[in-house]
Amino acid sequence: MIALMNLIMCSRAGTYRTLDVKKSGSGISGLTSGCNIQTWTPTDNIAQLFNFVPLGNGQYKIVLKYNTDLAITSYGSGNGSNDGRSATSTGNVFVSTYTGSNNQKWLLEPTATTGKMHYYGSMELAYPFRGSTVPLEITSGFGYRIHPISGNLKMHKGIDIKASGGTPLYSAVDGTVVKIGYEDDGRGNYIIVEADYDYNNVYDSNIKIYVLYAHLIESPTQTNSAVREQEHVTTETLIGKVGQTGAATGNHLHLSILIDGTLNYGTTSVTDPLAFYPNIVFDQLY
Ligand SMILES: [Zn+2]
Repeated sequence: MIALMNLIMCSRAGTYRTLDVKKSGSGISGLTSGCNIQTWTPTDNIAQLFNFVPLGNGQYKIVLKYNTDLAITSYGSGNGSNDGRSATSTGNVFVSTYTGSNNQKWLLEPTATTGKMHYYGSMELAYPFRGSTVPLEITSGFGYRIHPISGNLKMHKGIDIKASGGTPLYSAVDGTVVKIGYEDDGRGNYIIVEADYDYNNVYDSNIKIYVLYAHLIESPTQTNSAVREQEHVTTETLIGKVGQTGAATGNHLHLSILIDGTLNYGTTSVTDPLAFYPNIVFDQLY
């Protein structure tokens, strides 16, 4: 993966304001752990150029170009306050030596087409496979790609996890089955489960999270007669089996996270499912 290099983060507020580290002295030596972050006019590359370094699964550390040991860090996990300006004020943001703590991992999350802001920062999904031969290979990631069948540049709205035909598939969330179907739009046999709300993790309780599983070998109702639309499922519920129905060049699971609360796969907003698996190291075969 390639780090995004030499970025300044420009504020939409005011005129010509960027993220800036308040140095404790002059030059590079002024960049030390604990220095606060503020906005400033873009006049000081040393304090204002950042590199985004991918950590996998949609997470980044954001370090200073001129001192890559120092990463943007939040203190604690609460909101900041008007007078909390020191490195150890809850909610304050500063630079600190990178240790790999969650306070130094950042997700770049999209807004939905409805314009709502989303936040899933610490939310995790269950992995949909079980057992000792769990497939951990991603054959195609989230984002734009050359489609393997059409040859056209197209948004890939989810991830493809390699698995053999017939591999049992479990729900990644406790939730309600909202759609079971077959579509010629590429999905083949599919099922969509709406996650139960987790108020600790979702910023807006009106947000719905739909998890879509596609290319299943048969209808989920054939795999498990208890799985029907409007039924509640848990992460222990068998909801289907891996296949290659629809537009698929081989057996695999296509997993999407729909964030607009609509079932129209063609138009709804999606986000990278890997961000919901921060503790799984995948082999990324692409
Ligand atoms: Zn796919």
